Amino acid sequence: MVVGVLVELSSKNIDKIFDYKVPKELEKKIKIGIRIIVPFGRMTLQGFVLEIKNTTSKYDLKEIIEVSDEDIILTDELLELGQKISKLTLSTLISAYQTMLPKALKAKKGRVINKKYDTYYKLKKDISAEKLTAKQWEIVNIILEKNEILRSEALKISTSALNTLIKNDLLKEEKKEHYRLTYNEKLLPKKELTDEQKQAVALVNLKKYDTYLLHGVTGSGKTEVYMELIEKALENGKSSILLVPEISLTPQMVSRFQQRFGSKIAAIHSALSDGEKYDEWRRISRNEAMIVIGARSAIFAPLKNIGVIIIDEEHSDSYKQSDMNPRYNAKDIAFIRGKTHNCPVILGSATPSLETYARALKDVYKLLSLPHRVNGKELPFVNIVDMNKEMKSSKGHFSNVLLTAIKKRLEKKEQIILLLNRRGYSSFVSCKNCGFTFKCPNCDITLTYHKSSNTLRCHYCGYGEKTYEICPKCGEKALSNLGVGTQRIEEELQKYFQDSKILRMDYDTTSKKGMHEKMIKAFKNHEYDILLGTQIVAKGLDFEDVTLVGVINADTGLNIPDFRSSENTFSLLSQVAGRSGRSSKAGEVIIQTFNPKHYSIMYTKTHDYIGFYNEEMQIRRTLKYPPYYYLVNIKVSGKDEKEILNEALKIKRALLRNLKNTIILGPSSATIFKLNNIYRYNLILKYKKEDNLLAVLEKIQNHYKSKVKIKIDIDINPSQMI
Ligand code: ADP
Ligand code: ZN
Repeated sequence: MVVGVLVELSSKNIDKIFDYKVPKELEKKIKIGIRIIVPFGRMTLQGFVLEIKNTTSKYDLKEIIEVSDEDIILTDELLELGQKISKLTLSTLISAYQTMLPKALKAKKGRVINKKYDTYYKLKKDISAEKLTAKQWEIVNIILEKNEILRSEALKISTSALNTLIKNDLLKEEKKEHYRLTYNEKLLPKKELTDEQKQAVALVNLKKYDTYLLHGVTGSGKTEVYMELIEKALENGKSSILLVPEISLTPQMVSRFQQRFGSKIAAIHSALSDGEKYDEWRRISRNEAMIVIGARSAIFAPLKNIGVIIIDEEHSDSYKQSDMNPRYNAKDIAFIRGKTHNCPVILGSATPSLETYARALKDVYKLLSLPHRVNGKELPFVNIVDMNKEMKSSKGHFSNVLLTAIKKRLEKKEQIILLLNRRGYSSFVSCKNCGFTFKCPNCDITLTYHKSSNTLRCHYCGYGEKTYEICPKCGEKALSNLGVGTQRIEEELQKYFQDSKILRMDYDTTSKKGMHEKMIKAFKNHEYDILLGTQIVAKGLDFEDVTLVGVINADTGLNIPDFRSSENTFSLLSQVAGRSGRSSKAGEVIIQTFNPKHYSIMYTKTHDYIGFYNEEMQIRRTLKYPPYYYLVNIKVSGKDEKEILNEALKIKRALLRNLKNTIILGPSSATIFKLNNIYRYNLILKYKKEDNLLAVLEKIQNHYKSKVKIKIDIDINPSQMI
């Protein structure tokens, strides 16, 4: 027997299938989609069996060394999916397969994750004639009742009794796999759906592939709709996938699903150990878990009979893998798998991405709406505070309006969430006095500060100008890099409210396992009055007693050099505002900003998604951004600045020769231009329709694949432009 093997070595040069001979004694174990160990040059590598050839080879082929799996790791569906991903993202096939599997299955040599086992005892023969002691009977009776007894349970009764039973050959031992995680089976009754929710559920045809957009305001009960659809799929014997951004995959969210579906769920998130993830993955592949909840990579869950795929917070950029190959988007994978399984794909959001909403308006996606909060609760009142005025009277980061509002809630023993928008780069310049930032006249993108040349540059088109010392808007000498940490805000806040208990939640304080869960519980139990944090507090949380949400700095997000900065700001502010007044008490939101007239802030005040959409779409059309145009980002990087600039120019010329319907911007320096002595230039492609685009890009990539000094990264439909 000869097998075709893809080895785990991610280099564009050797991404192909090699033939190996199978020794007779291993032949029975060989299946397509399992992993094996093979010699490769002087190395020993793991690989996937992709082909079985029932020929004997004429050549002197090497033999495989060992078979790693009993069960198939890559099903036929996943094998094919990997090939599509590799084509669509211009990545190696092996990198696609590696991305699809949990880390434990990418095991490097010597680092194997063990399965855990429990030992059970059963009766070997009829024991009615045996003479047993009381303790021995106690053990045997449990077996008679339950068919088996767990070793640890028997030991609790009596070690010597158990040992005697074993010695007298009355028991047979059995090992059963023991999963590291357990799910509580105590289920709660489900909620009666509102009419709006019922209608949304009724409009989804679970029998065929279609994409739906569930557009529901915060607190409109989208999650309840998801659960109902999942339950219906389950009644048809089908499984489901629910993707949520890692950041909103909170213990709260998981426990809601557990209370409804018990151990049928598998929740995969970054707080799990590799072993736990491995166990969850195997529960899924054995059809023991039918409902998979997880972040981006859960879209690859090895489910067999999928009935519905749901992507919550579909606008989130976390669904795109941006930092490494393959640069895939989980939404695209959902569409592929939806077609394969002939099941609906549901995209849910209070603030859909412009691409998605545009498609819904064109009827490419079917639109489902939940325009009201559950039980007629009002959306919270939003108060915009102009920090240009406030900065004249207050010194710190808090306006008087916000301080007064906090004080009022503390007195009433209600709770407060404060958001510090930290997602900025220190590499933009902004006026501390009036909030002014410099923008590119061509691209409407915040200019990036380059220290070495003391210039401001646009990293889309390359436009540049000298930096100023004096703010061109207010005339103050107050230009600087912004950036303040949660810790400093916490200290400031504590000074104002000395008796209040503040809980700080950011990536630092939640990185330890279990911390996130503990903090959420503690806040829910009123052990704290104020929850202060970064984006992590904006999403998915549902606290009854939070009646005030404050945004300390709404503007940081606007200054990110990305054409989506307004969209992302509107969506973040709407999300965090949605944490307020979710229960019977009315909610309020206070947003501090230097740009009170900016449309992304104005439309947050009125909770007007459509208004925002219409205004933003005009800008996108004028400047030729998505959804009117598609984008590709080509990053050229290397140590020799001159050389890579030259190569980038060469690539641009090649693109211009071969692509007739594409606008090509750059080369321009990337936002982070120099990192670890590596210089990075970007080329940005804008196009509506360009038939041979993939072929041309692949050619360019192949041309550079063997070059060591220059690296090319191609990101098709990038989610971030940095
Ligand atoms: P969303 O995901 O749209 O923000 P959720 O599904 O979290 O909204 O629902 C908001 C709150 O309303 C939650 O506390 C949820 O338990 C509650 N809720 C949702 N649907 C119903 C319903 N039909 N009846 C009663 N309460 C509901
Ligand atoms: Zn520009």
